Amino acid sequence: MLAPARAAAASGALARARAGEPGWPSDAQWNELGLQVGDALVKVQSPLATCLNAPDSTECRQLFKELKNPYFLGDEVGLTQTLGWVDAWTSRPSVYAVAARNTNDVVSAVNFARRNNLRLVVKGGGHSYQGTSNAAGSLLIWTRKMNHITVQEAFVGKGCEGHASPVRAVTVGAGALWAHVYDAVTTQAGGYVQGGGCMTVGVAGLIQSGGFGNFFKAYGLAAGSRLEAEVVTADGAVLIANACTNPDLFWGLKGGGGGSLGVVTRLTLRVHELPETFGAVNMTINATSAPAFRRLIGLIIDFYQRNLLNPHWGEQIIFRHNNVLKIAMVFQGLSRSEARAVWQPFMDTLATAPDDFKVEFSPLKIVAISARSFWAPTLFKKLLGFISTDDRPGTPKDNVFWPGDQWDAGHVLHGYESAWLPATLLRDGQRRTLADALFAATRQWSVSLHVNKGLAGAPAEAVAAARDTATNPAALDAFALLICQAAEPPAYPGIQGHEPDTESARRNARAIGRAMDEVRKLVPNPGSYVAESNFFNEDWQRSFWGSNYSRLLAVKDRYDPDGLFFVHHGVGSERWSADGFTKLGKTNAR
Ligand SMILES: Cc1cc2nc3c(=O)[nH]c(=O)nc-3n(C[C@H](O)[C@H](O)[C@H](O)COP(=O)(O)OP(=O)(O)OC[C@H]3O[C@@H](n4cnc5c(N)ncnc54)[C@H](O)[C@@H]3O)c2cc1C
Repeated sequence: MLAPARAAAASGALARARAGEPGWPSDAQWNELGLQVGDALVKVQSPLATCLNAPDSTECRQLFKELKNPYFLGDEVGLTQTLGWVDAWTSRPSVYAVAARNTNDVVSAVNFARRNNLRLVVKGGGHSYQGTSNAAGSLLIWTRKMNHITVQEAFVGKGCEGHASPVRAVTVGAGALWAHVYDAVTTQAGGYVQGGGCMTVGVAGLIQSGGFGNFFKAYGLAAGSRLEAEVVTADGAVLIANACTNPDLFWGLKGGGGGSLGVVTRLTLRVHELPETFGAVNMTINATSAPAFRRLIGLIIDFYQRNLLNPHWGEQIIFRHNNVLKIAMVFQGLSRSEARAVWQPFMDTLATAPDDFKVEFSPLKIVAISARSFWAPTLFKKLLGFISTDDRPGTPKDNVFWPGDQWDAGHVLHGYESAWLPATLLRDGQRRTLADALFAATRQWSVSLHVNKGLAGAPAEAVAAARDTATNPAALDAFALLICQAAEPPAYPGIQGHEPDTESARRNARAIGRAMDEVRKLVPNPGSYVAESNFFNEDWQRSFWGSNYSRLLAVKDRYDPDGLFFVHHGVGSERWSADGFTKLGKTNAR
């Protein structure tokens, strides 16, 4: 029997080399790469190997505790934030990794992968829900160590001299995490940079996804604030991409999805004016019956449309399947009393029906603080449990994260879907239909409206900047991204006592599907956020990028015609087998 690589070659298809099979680089060749990148070349072993061998050991118990620390996960070359998705993927270590320290290391790794026909994968913060930053049998380029951050007072992109006015900006290495960027830009320098809500997401991965943060309704898409990137393309060239130099690549890297066009090594983002205050409103309301819950959904939708659809407000309104409404909103540019005044009419309405609605935190729980200290790990916030810190000894003090995001660390997904909801649904005469659909969805599974992930209600400038990205245009007219998902705490196939709960996972995935069917009755064929979406979405090109897909594919063909960069449901991935190892014949590729 022919080895897979040769069999594929015989059929005219291209197959990438696999470890232990003919075509895999010899030790001497790996040593050569080692000479080029020095200590940066590592043979990868997953810490989970300990548990696979000895599930009852103290080391394994300790490891499962550490899997709840997002910084621990981010610092491990062989791990990812999500450990897998039942029936979709399981986090697997690469064979080798280049833990790149600089652009030259990345160039060496890209050239080595191309010349030796290897499956290449790129990882930054490791937060891909779709598992696109890990691949068994691959060479990994890990950018985590490239994490310098420099605030610049007067930045002009290369080639833009004379065309663009200097602006305040921050230049960051591709491996930086948002928590550290917020510390440098906001806490230290008093500016604002548009990044992600979750502080341990990687900068380069988020920007290539498009990127939605807490205060998105004021500042727009994170990718919309990108000024420039340095990129290593498939041919090993180091390119600058901005509005004036390689503008097509620049456009594709803004929302075109990570890991498909090249390796971003450095990026520069606009620094905006910081408002005086940031704040949060948290509240849980229990409806005492299903009809009361349906009424409550109608009330919050009406209230949102009248009072919150503007640049001050962001984050989530969560509709739980047990008739519970959770408000987890943030605001910017308002004082505590102004925010309270906004919410008072809603609280007054609830108070008229005490038998129907029980507010858990009464009176309304509102905090407002100086915007400059929003991401700072102050004692006040630590004591009140508003912020969590990396508890490993000797770690940097700005290794912080929101307590709510700890749930995601090391989790295993059961299902995940998202849908952009157009703002037309908030019109008079439409809101009732919207509330009915949300209620029907909650009879199947909980759903949340991420109102900071749709541009309706954002300033015109933010909408225009988002329009000039590869992000699905559906986001421009949406008031929210609806998300429906389920996961379980850290688990891994083959580790006794820690196996994923496959049966519950499949049951939950079916319930999510039914909930989303209700949403699809409301919005047939909705757009979906590439970074927060269904692994099994067969219509991913249209869902993730809408009318931008053909332009994105043209950028891919120009900068990576042979498909060195492959990720699941990434641009051009339809030309490859699901594992990215085999190029499909013309008849198989769409
Ligand atoms: C817990 C959690 C919270 C999240 N919160 C938000 C949020 O608030 N807002 C939001 O918009 N999204 C959010 N996301 C989605 C997240 O933004 C994307 O998954 C993003 O791509 C993650 O980037 P990363 O570097 O952390 O992940 P990785 O898994 O390392 O990378 C993600 C993808 O980008 C590629 N990539 C990474 N670095 C590079 C590089 N330097 N060059 C080229 N390709 C690269 C990888 O190959 C992979 O395909 C969240 C995800 C998780 C798991």
